[in-house]
Amino acid sequence: MQYDLAVVGGGILGLAHAWQAARSGMRVAVFERGAFADGASVRNFGMLAIAAQQPGPELDSARAGLAAWQEVAAGAGISLRQAGCLFVARRPEEMDVLAERAAATGPAVQDFALIGPEDLARHVPGLTDAALGGLWSPEAWKADQRGAPAAIAAWLARAHGVTFHFNTEVTHAEGGRIETAGGSYRANHVVICGGNEFARLCPEAWAASGVSTCRLQMLRTLPRPQDWRLDPFVMGGLSMTRYSAFADCAALPALRALQQQHMAEASAHGVHVIIVQEDDGSITLGDSHHYGADAAPDDPARVDDLILGETDALMRLPERRIAARWVGNYAHMPGRALLRMHPGAGITAVTNTNGQGMTHGFTVAAETIAQIAS
Ligand SMILES: Cc1cc2nc3c(=O)[nH]c(=O)nc-3n(C[C@H](O)[C@H](O)[C@H](O)COP(=O)(O)OP(=O)(O)OC[C@H]3O[C@@H](n4cnc5c(N)ncnc54)[C@H](O)[C@@H]3O)c2cc1C
Repeated sequence: MQYDLAVVGGGILGLAHAWQAARSGMRVAVFERGAFADGASVRNFGMLAIAAQQPGPELDSARAGLAAWQEVAAGAGISLRQAGCLFVARRPEEMDVLAERAAATGPAVQDFALIGPEDLARHVPGLTDAALGGLWSPEAWKADQRGAPAAIAAWLARAHGVTFHFNTEVTHAEGGRIETAGGSYRANHVVICGGNEFARLCPEAWAASGVSTCRLQMLRTLPRPQDWRLDPFVMGGLSMTRYSAFADCAALPALRALQQQHMAEASAHGVHVIIVQEDDGSITLGDSHHYGADAAPDDPARVDDLILGETDALMRLPERRIAARWVGNYAHMPGRALLRMHPGAGITAVTNTNGQGMTHGFTVAAETIAQIAS
């Protein structure tokens, strides 16, 4: 069968491309190496992080991505809730950053509110006494990251006629053709959405681009029974120096300097803490950031301890026993959010390089498909 579009990779970016193409009338097939998606798309926090974006094109992209998620989640029956997020300050330098961000105004700025210590408990249970205040935003959504790819794939097949080839690794791609162990397939265009692994299919283009890999460690607690509920994402000071929502704050250099001096080990491992509760009551915790193809830290257990230490400094979790630990990877390019390349005629390779493909992936896919269709 001749397809209009062959998509390599069944993670969120591959599925977003398949959806955008199918609803524009293309015959689409998705080739996924695993029995189900097993990359970054099922290993993350499921955070659609509108609040974490820099006002301007980045924020616009995130908001467009959210609108697409809402449509897809309704169609595919995926859990997607408006969780909101709370950045918690434990140091005056962090409070300065939050106050500055809360004071920023403009039509395209996120909805932020500065929260005094007396009001923190209204948003988040169990914060430690070290909390000085926080910055609240309703603009963060929680998707069920573990269930979403399978549910979206089933819906695309059912409602949009997309063909799925699971357990099918693509070993070669060139204009109009892909090869798998089970045979070759023809398509007018191939889009490679293999996450940080498209190096294998386009090694020269990958090497020439300067893209690298980021490795992240994550943890999940045992499920907590119904009597305790954490609705928002909770983050601390290390997230303020990581997310571009705060990049323009004049108070940021002082916070960075403080972290280098007093949180040197956590900073060196790229630790910043995000705490969120899943639908089953478990709490997902992370993460760390190690860069480069061979970036595993010498002592991963120590990195887990740093994540847990930062978590404990922010919150008293009702369930602290760890049920799962895992590693996720994404393609990384400093200062660039996206790598979209054309390694040959009829081939596009796309990956988010800012670690926010859940937030921006649907917007990226709409752009790619518009380019291919034009
Ligand atoms: C720990 C962690 C936390 C994150 N948290 C967030 C977050 O909260 N919010 C957010 O916006 N972003 C987050 N991200 C980033 C986000 O998860 C990624 O940007 C996004 O999931 C990438 O999607 P993808 O489809 O490009 O890649 P992947 O999800 O990695 O999917 C690639 C798929 O391609 C398949 N594949 C690869 N090669 C082949 C081949 N040759 N043939 C067939 N199939 C192939 C793989 O099996 C895989 O299923 C996080 C990432 C990590 C690692």
